Amino acid sequence: MIGEAGQILLFIYREFFSDPKTLIVMGFVSTVILVLGLTGIEKRALSREALMNTFTTFAILAANLALAPLVFLVTRQFQAGYQALGIPSIDPVFWSGVPWIVTAVIALIGKDFCDYWCHRALHTPLGWPVHAVHHSDSHVNGFTSFRVHVLELLLMKAFYITLLSWLGIPPELVATAYIVASLHNAYVHFEVDIDHGRLNWLIASPRFHRWHHADLPEAYGKNLANMIPAWDMLFGTYRAAGPCHEPMGLAKDGISATDPAKLMLLPFVMWGRSAKTAISGLFTRARRV
Ligand SMILES: [Zn+2]
Ligand SMILES: [Zn+2]
Repeated sequence: MIGEAGQILLFIYREFFSDPKTLIVMGFVSTVILVLGLTGIEKRALSREALMNTFTTFAILAANLALAPLVFLVTRQFQAGYQALGIPSIDPVFWSGVPWIVTAVIALIGKDFCDYWCHRALHTPLGWPVHAVHHSDSHVNGFTSFRVHVLELLLMKAFYITLLSWLGIPPELVATAYIVASLHNAYVHFEVDIDHGRLNWLIASPRFHRWHHADLPEAYGKNLANMIPAWDMLFGTYRAAGPCHEPMGLAKDGISATDPAKLMLLPFVMWGRSAKTAISGLFTRARRV
């Protein structure tokens, strides 16, 4: 029995470590940050603040790794539940007649559309306590793309599985789309002021995403797209602006950038506080009646 559980755990951790996102993106991000820091292109890339934030991100990543079996089980249950609903979907055979590159692009656009709405849901009062962990980084760099609470990972997977089950896209093309999207997601977090001129509507740039992280009320809840800013233009959340030199992180709200334990507990603390306020509000109203 223990042997079987051990086998499953081994499978889950092997999946995680051989996940292209973990290996390829980590290598890519480390290389770019070292080049930025050592060549002096971006002196702050290797500053104490940057390192402290990065260590915190690694600690969150390690916690997510420890919780990987939970993610695996919940995802499997969700997948089974969704299949049991018998929602009509495109037959995977359909894609055999379509050039692979077209299918991969469709998978990428579909994933990005899902990511936009998932991100939008995370910027609502209910979702924010989970997503605040990502925004807590006061020194946004490529590693910030890994600073994600385990509950956000679960929500993203639920959105993603629903769409892909519906589209019936072959798993290997889904994996291709996932690697491209992950590399791009690391790129938009780099500490460089790059934008894409005439292509700003099509491909998100680091400048576009740095405004999303800016601690500035006018920028809150803007530039939600991961990859295709056209979603923001279509749905009214686009913010076009010049270089971003605004502070980042949530220090103003008393949220630490460098305490991984507090960050992992943050959603539960914030939801608890909201529930307490709502309940005491009810009692106050009841007393007045
Ligand atoms: Zn966000
Ligand atoms: Zn981000």
